[in-house]
Amino acid sequence: MNSSSFWVAAATAAPVLSYFVGRLNRWAGFAAGLAAFAFCSFMLAGEIAAGAPYAALALWSAAALAHSVYLNGLSPSGAAAPRLADALKKAAALEAELARVKKEATLNAAGEKRSLAVYSSVKLLSETMEPHAAAKQMGKYLADFFGTEEAALYMASSAAEGAALELFAQGARASALPPLDRLLAAAGAFPAAAGELSGVTLAPVAAGGLPLGLLAVRGADAAGAAHFASEISYALKRVILFRQVEWLSLTDGLTGLWRRSALDEKIREEIRRASAFKTPMGFMIADIDHFKRLNDTYGHQFGDAVLRRVAQLLKAGVYETDFVGRYGGEEFGIVLPRADSAGLLRKAETMRARIEGEVFSQGLEKVRLTVSIGIAHFPRDGRTPEELVAAADKALYAAKEGGRNRIVEAGQY
Ligand code: GH3
Ligand code: MG
Ligand code: MG
Repeated sequence: MNSSSFWVAAATAAPVLSYFVGRLNRWAGFAAGLAAFAFCSFMLAGEIAAGAPYAALALWSAAALAHSVYLNGLSPSGAAAPRLADALKKAAALEAELARVKKEATLNAAGEKRSLAVYSSVKLLSETMEPHAAAKQMGKYLADFFGTEEAALYMASSAAEGAALELFAQGARASALPPLDRLLAAAGAFPAAAGELSGVTLAPVAAGGLPLGLLAVRGADAAGAAHFASEISYALKRVILFRQVEWLSLTDGLTGLWRRSALDEKIREEIRRASAFKTPMGFMIADIDHFKRLNDTYGHQFGDAVLRRVAQLLKAGVYETDFVGRYGGEEFGIVLPRADSAGLLRKAETMRARIEGEVFSQGLEKVRLTVSIGIAHFPRDGRTPEELVAAADKALYAAKEGGRNRIVEAGQY
């Protein structure tokens, strides 16, 4: 390339170069365009490369310079840029505000859900007449409040110092929690203190200084658990007292056995179950022989002690799932779910023999006694509670008539 064509190429490239420089920066482009124009003018004026092509190139450079200024004005770094940047900034601020409002709304919704769960829990526990049914609903509120199904509420069996804890309400996945004895070991023996055991938060429930329960929730914040525990404490106390009263009215004060009304309800329930599942069921009445004589000879107090001991022996003679009640003065009713006729007879015989072998003592006195037992079987001897009890009662009467200290089955007399 000779020197003249080099200058032509340089002059041609200069405006293009100035244009691209201008894209990067408005003032640099302007300077480059100006330099290209000055360069071409210098070439023309100095007649270094005179001639029409150079005049055209000079014009082209001038046009390119104007164009560059114009384009730069439109580019993002140009005059419109601050306006655009401003708009973008505003949009970003709006977006941030929107996100903040959204987050707040979510937080509010979560907070509202938690407040509602607390409110519902307190209302439920304050009003329920059926703690067992309430416990189910309470499990749902626990899950709502803490946002996890791994939650459990343990309740004291009575509102008294040293009462044992039992599971009251639970979320669907409460079984994944550590067992109660390990929770208690972590929280300190009941009355428990707030604590934590491998990710499970523990919060004691107490009212008026009395320990009432323990809350165990996986991953709960300690403050939230403490808040929930304190909110429900008085309502939970009501449930505990309610259950205590209910329990007292269902059980006999002397023997601790079910009262007649409670036992009648058990008979009704078990007959329903036996009918539904086509299973057998038995009922027996045991009556102490010549109890009046014992009372008259040794006094009522000794009579009471004998009643308590007989109650213990009867209870020890049946399964945990059987129900033993005090039917009258020295009369006991026993409901035996799923017991067949032969099993029923065997059990009655074991109990009769056990009581016959027992020596009841008071001071130096040693007393022996016997019982007579009447047995009735569902559905053979009766289909309703009344029929079944009447059949057992008749059998008992037959046992007394037959000489006492014996067992008679319904229909076998
Ligand atoms: P039988 O062999 O015919 O059953 O004669 P019995 O004396 O056992 O029956 P009876 O029905 O004549 O008397 C029942 C007695 O039970 C009368 C009452 O003094 C006594 N009794 C009832 N309830 C209690 C109680 O709570 N404590 C005491 N000590 N005695 C009671
Ligand atoms: Mg009697
Ligand atoms: Mg009697």
